[in-house]
Amino acid sequence: MSYSITKNFIPGLPTFPYRHGVGAYEGVVSHCTDSSNRSGGDTPSKERAYEARTFNQAFVHFFVGVENGDAVILQVASTDYGAYGAGPVANKRFVHVELCMYDDEALFSKAYDAYVYVLAKLLHDRKLDVTKAAADGSGTLWSHKDVNKFLGGTTHEDPIAYLAEHNISWNQHVKNVASQYSSLTSNKLKIVSAASAAILMDGPDRQHANNIGTVPLGTIVENLGKVQGKNNKDGYYKISYKGKTGYITARFGKPL
Ligand SMILES: [Zn+2]
Repeated sequence: MSYSITKNFIPGLPTFPYRHGVGAYEGVVSHCTDSSNRSGGDTPSKERAYEARTFNQAFVHFFVGVENGDAVILQVASTDYGAYGAGPVANKRFVHVELCMYDDEALFSKAYDAYVYVLAKLLHDRKLDVTKAAADGSGTLWSHKDVNKFLGGTTHEDPIAYLAEHNISWNQHVKNVASQYSSLTSNKLKIVSAASAAILMDGPDRQHANNIGTVPLGTIVENLGKVQGKNNKDGYYKISYKGKTGYITARFGKPL
């Protein structure tokens, strides 16, 4: 799935270049907002309004959440410059993206898919690969916890616990961003690993969707994007095949 990014920069933010220069970010930090209102009230617009008052203490580049039923990616600061997201070392290296928090599984999954998309897109835009943060400071995809452990200057550990509440481990998150990244690279998928054909479903939920067709092994189809959906930890690809648009289990699609 592809998303549009709404830009509404907060006026007056401090600007400082990354350590390798203006625009030269080296990776992304995955955060969540730490909201105590998780019943649907945490939105990118509200987070922006709060940040507009408090940016001298902390600010990030993006908020991702759900507003009026739709996933929203709101960019509030230019990625040309650093932000105050995770301590002085990380701030001179990375773009910071915050995920709004929800208890409701459907709201979470809508917001999470958009979050994975923007993380992958930011890395893809700079031709940075998706690699896990490591103790030597390498890696392009960081959690706030990784920054705390490997670079210091901060005490937070988000978004690990929040993603775990929704059954997504950090390793799974890295995989999800990597597969979204590969679908940004290619708009074709080959059907692989199925016994003879992949089932085409009318929604990204293998327990509740209706089967609307089959796609034979080896077929090349148009990839319309990756989504997390439900009841499959590796997610689904939205595809177009013989005039039908539907979803297949992600392990049956290989980006070309
Ligand atoms: Zn954080």
